[in-house]
Amino acid sequence: MTRNLICICCPRGCQLEVTLQDGQVTDVKGFSCKRGKDYAVSEVTAPVRMVTTTVRTEEGVSVPVKTAQPIPKDKIFACMEEIKAVRLHLPVQMGDVILENAAGTGIPVIAARSLGE
Ligand code: SF4
Repeated sequence: MTRNLICICCPRGCQLEVTLQDGQVTDVKGFSCKRGKDYAVSEVTAPVRMVTTTVRTEEGVSVPVKTAQPIPKDKIFACMEEIKAVRLHLPVQMGDVILENAAGTGIPVIAARSLGE
């Protein structure tokens, strides 16, 4: 079985072809660098994404937040639900931990920008 992907690691957007046999990657074609090959393997075996969104503060402004690292794609919805329940007060410093354990992944959600200083 083969899967065709477009690498999202940089704007070049290389077209990747991944060959799988019994759920194992046996070949990757089309990448121009190691990042692309690693992305292809991850995407077909354990896909992950950074989550970026905003949290509204009690003062009425929105603070951009993101996961500190990519999380499994199947945890994104749960992570977004947890973020929706967060209430913040200004000031917020870039890097402040907004959630310590996003959707049970062990990965924190942090403020991506300072606001209200
Ligand atoms: S394979 Fe490398 S060069 Fe190609 S899109 Fe991915 S990161 Fe960019």
